[in-house]
Amino acid sequence: MNIKKRIPKFLSLLLCFSMTFGNMIPAYATENTNSDSTTVIDGENISTEERNLEDITVTYKQASSFFVTIPKTIVLDGWKQSTYAVKVSGDIDADQCVYVAPVDGIAKTENIDFYMKDQATENAKDDVVANVTHNKFHWNSAEVAGSYRQDDNLVSAPDLTAGAWRGIFQMEIKLETHVTHKHNYVETITKQPTCTEAGEKTYTCDCGDSYTEVIPAKGHHFENGECTDCHEKDSSHEHSYTETITKKPTCTETGEKTYTCGCGDSYTEEIPAMGHNFVDGECERCHEKDPCSESHTDENGDGICDICGHEHQWVENEDVLEWVRYNPYGRAGWTKNGNTYEATFSADKTDATKSASIDFDIEVPNDVECTYSFTCPYLYKTDFMYYDSASAYLYDLDDSGSTISETRTTIFSAKGPGSGYSSGKISLSKGKHRLSVSYHKGNKSSAVSGTVRITLNSIEALNHVCTECGEKGAHKYTEIITKDATCVESGERKYICETCGYSYTEEIAATGEHNYVNGICTMCGEANIATTEIYSISSTTSRTTDSGHGHYDQTSLSGTYSPDIEIAEDMAEDEYLVLNSYIGYPVISGQGQYGESDGINGSSQLQKYDEETGTWKTIDTHSMSYNIAKNITEQTGGYTDLHRGCGISRKYQLEKGTYRIYGSFSAHRSCASSVAHYYYSYRITAYLCQIKK
Ligand SMILES: [Zn+2]
Ligand SMILES: [Zn+2]
Ligand SMILES: [Zn+2]
Ligand SMILES: [Zn+2]
Ligand SMILES: [Zn+2]
Ligand SMILES: [Zn+2]
Ligand SMILES: [Zn+2]
Ligand SMILES: [Zn+2]
Repeated sequence: MNIKKRIPKFLSLLLCFSMTFGNMIPAYATENTNSDSTTVIDGENISTEERNLEDITVTYKQASSFFVTIPKTIVLDGWKQSTYAVKVSGDIDADQCVYVAPVDGIAKTENIDFYMKDQATENAKDDVVANVTHNKFHWNSAEVAGSYRQDDNLVSAPDLTAGAWRGIFQMEIKLETHVTHKHNYVETITKQPTCTEAGEKTYTCDCGDSYTEVIPAKGHHFENGECTDCHEKDSSHEHSYTETITKKPTCTETGEKTYTCGCGDSYTEEIPAMGHNFVDGECERCHEKDPCSESHTDENGDGICDICGHEHQWVENEDVLEWVRYNPYGRAGWTKNGNTYEATFSADKTDATKSASIDFDIEVPNDVECTYSFTCPYLYKTDFMYYDSASAYLYDLDDSGSTISETRTTIFSAKGPGSGYSSGKISLSKGKHRLSVSYHKGNKSSAVSGTVRITLNSIEALNHVCTECGEKGAHKYTEIITKDATCVESGERKYICETCGYSYTEEIAATGEHNYVNGICTMCGEANIATTEIYSISSTTSRTTDSGHGHYDQTSLSGTYSPDIEIAEDMAEDEYLVLNSYIGYPVISGQGQYGESDGINGSSQLQKYDEETGTWKTIDTHSMSYNIAKNITEQTGGYTDLHRGCGISRKYQLEKGTYRIYGSFSAHRSCASSVAHYYYSYRITAYLCQIKK
């Protein structure tokens, strides 16, 4: 329950708190009542006519009165502490304030504190210090009018141990008039300002009153773009760079320029490599050899040098490559007629050396071919030691111009006795080559001198050449078929150099492959026929005697029949029989001159067996007659084929039945024929044919 007490103005009230009791003790204070003062006016001195005026000062004054509410007892909790509240309410003068403060119970310490005492009657524990943290000392008139309450004041005695403890501290309460105390503030910087954050100054008076003041942020102190205090960069700083070459570029390596600002900031810039400055095949600056002095390098074949960027201007190279005569020895000569080169070497046994030789060198920029012919005269041989010889060898040359012996290719090589001839193509790969030709006569050879002759044709360069740098490059051919080959006709293929446009054509052989549709080739019209030979007879006979003018010499073929040919079914539209008959003169070695009326007669027949009559009926007859012109003399030769004569070929679509072929043949000679063998030939063949679909 709350108790109100009157407290006289200007007097302090000391209240005791006894710990362990829970009741609250309110404090009450009020001012004494004002004593009235009056003024008395004497009426004798005032006439009737006169008016007398007096001031009456009306005043009002009310004494301050206030209540302070504090706890009567404070019970510490399990944490050995407890908060307490102080509330001041009432009505006081504006220049007054209510002072509420705990009284320090232990003078020798700095804090506000007091002793807690053990309540044991015997062997009580030592006293324990309890601290008071009091947060508000003064209540001004507004706070008092608003019953301001300060809650979080604290009593704590952390050293308390088991037992019943009790302590007392006093609270001083008084009403102060400001004139009675002049604050004497001491200034302390409670928070240092930084470049960007404000700090705080706290002014504290002995009386416990204090207030704070903001210390403005210091602001950065930029020097060369950076704050000397916090090292923050100055965003408004404008760099001013100085350029230094920190690495000099060379022909092939880049250099470096460094730009530096007074603030320490810097960046680098690459200085491009200068590139070589080739003069006469060497760099003026670093003396490196010009890799392009002999030829450019173009790995990807785009016509641009990978090293120096030179762009080739290719055109067809129409050059003719020259053979260069070299090391002539003995009687060796060399002439050039147009694009043909002819070399002759002669020697005989009267010559001191008996030998002649010459080398021909050539350098080709790419693979080429050259045709040649080589002839040597009769090479004599006297005995095993002495013989004539002639040879032509082809070598590759190394860079120094010496022959590489392993590359020797024999173009011609002969030793007596005998003669020789050789012709063909010499294939030359890119590079230098030498053709060494020599002729030698053996010691005891015939005195007849011989002459070896070699003819080389011109070699077209077969490459393209850059009109700017003179470099040559092999053609890169693209192949285009300009005309397709058919079964019977040849086609044409064109090779075009994609670099310079040079081109040549090549024949494509006829394929021989027909495109049969319903048995007929759509390209050449040839029929696709399956052929089966069912009969064949041929003979060549001869006469060596002459029976005189007008005599006919019959051969043994008269009345020859083929075996029966059975046709089981009527032939379909695409089936037929072919009968070929031929008579003639073959040309055979030993024949002489033909006479006035030499000739051959022959015939063949197709016959069918007639079931009704039991006889053979002739269906068709081939009659042939060949007379050779007078006084023709046949060449002698090895030919055995039929040479002169005539023949007939016919097709028959046969009905079912039995057939046969009949042949007869005769030859006659005139009396004027010279005596020699004379040959006559005949041939009859029959085929069954079917057109393939
Ligand atoms: Zn003060
Ligand atoms: Zn700063
Ligand atoms: Zn800078
Ligand atoms: Zn250089
Ligand atoms: Zn180049
Ligand atoms: Zn070029
Ligand atoms: Zn080309
Ligand atoms: Zn065809």
